[in-house]
Amino acid sequence: MNQHDHLGSTRRRFLKNGTLVLATSALASPRLVGGDELSTLRVGLVTDLHYADKAPAGSRHYRESLAKLSEAAEQFRKDDPAFLVELGDLIDAADSVEVEQGYLQTINKTFAAISRDRHYVLGNHCVDTLTKEEFLSSVGQEKSYYSFDRGGVHFVVLDACFRSDGEPYGRKNFKWTDANIPPVELQWLKADLAASDKPVVVFAHQRLDVTHNHSVKNSADVRQILKESGRVLAVFQGHSHQNDLQDIDGIHYCTLVAMVEGSGLESSGYSLLEIKPDLSLHLTGFRNQASQTWLSK
Ligand SMILES: [Zn+2]
Repeated sequence: MNQHDHLGSTRRRFLKNGTLVLATSALASPRLVGGDELSTLRVGLVTDLHYADKAPAGSRHYRESLAKLSEAAEQFRKDDPAFLVELGDLIDAADSVEVEQGYLQTINKTFAAISRDRHYVLGNHCVDTLTKEEFLSSVGQEKSYYSFDRGGVHFVVLDACFRSDGEPYGRKNFKWTDANIPPVELQWLKADLAASDKPVVVFAHQRLDVTHNHSVKNSADVRQILKESGRVLAVFQGHSHQNDLQDIDGIHYCTLVAMVEGSGLESSGYSLLEIKPDLSLHLTGFRNQASQTWLSK
């Protein structure tokens, strides 16, 4: 019996011919039944792989992210998350668009083999040489910011790869410290949260909990919108490559460790997030990723 079998005997509700039936499930991997009902939902998380076929620079071992991701893939195959989120900086820069596209195809082949349900948060390094359109079409994602529902939870993917003047990043047209969520995206976020009555989890690359070089410049505006919704449980972010955690206005802002940092599989980092029916959150960290438990309020 593995650690995830705890719901094996949990009573679950089934809607059959319009009648609510209480049933006992013996499934090892509980799945959403009957539309919007909440059972334990598992999400696989990775961030800051910076994959590139180039020599290490400082603590960044670009090539090794491929083997580190393969290890994470093995773990995720056991845990069977409902979906995967890559929190940005999947690749690192090349001198040409063609070579950078090659890096993306190589790393995404391994990532895409893990799950059909995948979500890519744009990081500054994803759209350094490439345009957003090029990156997104290569990974098969329509939009850079959007939301979706799984298992009774509303998930939001944000894109802070915009300059202060609203121009989207691409083709080396930006400074990495100039990350912003433009007014049109803020308006969308407000409306999107207002239209949902579900608990919310947010994914971002640049940080929303700090005011330094690694933060979204207008992070205070974003935090205000998240706070006003009253239903945001947590924000998962990357970008600064280190474990960090801040609780602001009752929202957990959790920064995940970068996969690219350090040589050897032991220097990797990835995690499995479990959202329980009582809305407690359990983050199981692997390698250098810290684990967290947040009990429901
Ligand atoms: Zn990074």
